Amino acid sequence: MKYQMYIPTRTLFGAGELNNLNIQEMPGRKAMVVISNGKSVRENGALARTEEQLHLAGVETAVFGKVEANPLKSTVMEGAAFARENGCDFVVALGGGSVMDAAKIMAMMATNPGDLWDYVAGGTGKNKPLENRPLPVVCITTTAGTGSEVDAWGVVTNPETQEKIGCGGMDSLFPVLAVVDPELMTTVPPKFTAYQGFDALFHSTECYISKAANPMSDMVALTAIENIAKYLPVAVMNGADLKARERVAFGNTLSGYVMSLSSCTSEHSMEHALSAFHQELPHGAGLIMLSRAYYEYFIEKGVCGDRFVRMARAMGMEAAKKPGDFLTALVKLQQDCGVADLKMSDYGITRGELEGLAVNARETMGGLFAADPCEMPHADCTAIYERAYR
Ligand SMILES: [Zn+2]
Repeated sequence: MKYQMYIPTRTLFGAGELNNLNIQEMPGRKAMVVISNGKSVRENGALARTEEQLHLAGVETAVFGKVEANPLKSTVMEGAAFARENGCDFVVALGGGSVMDAAKIMAMMATNPGDLWDYVAGGTGKNKPLENRPLPVVCITTTAGTGSEVDAWGVVTNPETQEKIGCGGMDSLFPVLAVVDPELMTTVPPKFTAYQGFDALFHSTECYISKAANPMSDMVALTAIENIAKYLPVAVMNGADLKARERVAFGNTLSGYVMSLSSCTSEHSMEHALSAFHQELPHGAGLIMLSRAYYEYFIEKGVCGDRFVRMARAMGMEAAKKPGDFLTALVKLQQDCGVADLKMSDYGITRGELEGLAVNARETMGGLFAADPCEMPHADCTAIYERAYR
């Protein structure tokens, strides 16, 4: 039994918790509030409420509203410059995974010279240590997907090099405060609720079969899987069901913790390659497309069979006895959430690209392959893409 745990983010979890933001200790006097380039937090009132809470706490605000889905390096660099120009001494992210990821990396680049890729550890990054501590970050998540509100990473895409990489990861990049208020999630459309929920699910399933798994991460992962599998279809069906939203949000935040306790596996490297080349593909949708063939590979290899059985049970198949039952539970959950028929070809992905994607996955995020429960040679990785292709 061995594990290390360091998740220093104060988490305010529960319906209505956004209303308690103003009584928290703030890490600065002027916040750059980072939101997406869409309309949702402006239209549903979340931005106005957040600014009001910050003003009540005596904090000034400047809004940066340009983050796209699968955030780009150029956007992150622009946000960092915006923070400096506006004299912001901390960052508040209000949005989903893309917004929180981008905000963390903006906080890092606001206080450090040069280009983001100077500090990136994977791919063509130069892996230089940070010169200065990032600005403190507060994350208010409006989705239940990436768990980004409680981890130290930000995934950013560099279109020049066609790399989508997890940046940061240093202790100083954990958000100081996370607000997980399921009331903010009731307006997420069904399709995105499903994509995001599956992203959270896969953070836990990967960390559970990972070589880095340990008794602490197992406990958290299984509870996350249980909550997501039971309540995601309800949240997809009826977004206003606050109890379901709450349970899915809980599963998601646990899945965020579990990534700091264990490690994701190559499923995430393989998905990042898909959305690095196809910017419009949502991360969760890419994972769903790969998932069946991906887990089938390890089941056919006969590794960690007992773990697949336990995950199937956590997903509600109480009588599960064989590893393949996990695939049955997974497909059923995808059907119940209306996402069983997603196709790579619908996003313009061609068969001819698959080999190149396998190369990109290993070159940019090779580290996660090391966490796989058994070795996955390059040819096998390509074969998984091919099996998953529709
Ligand atoms: Zn993910």
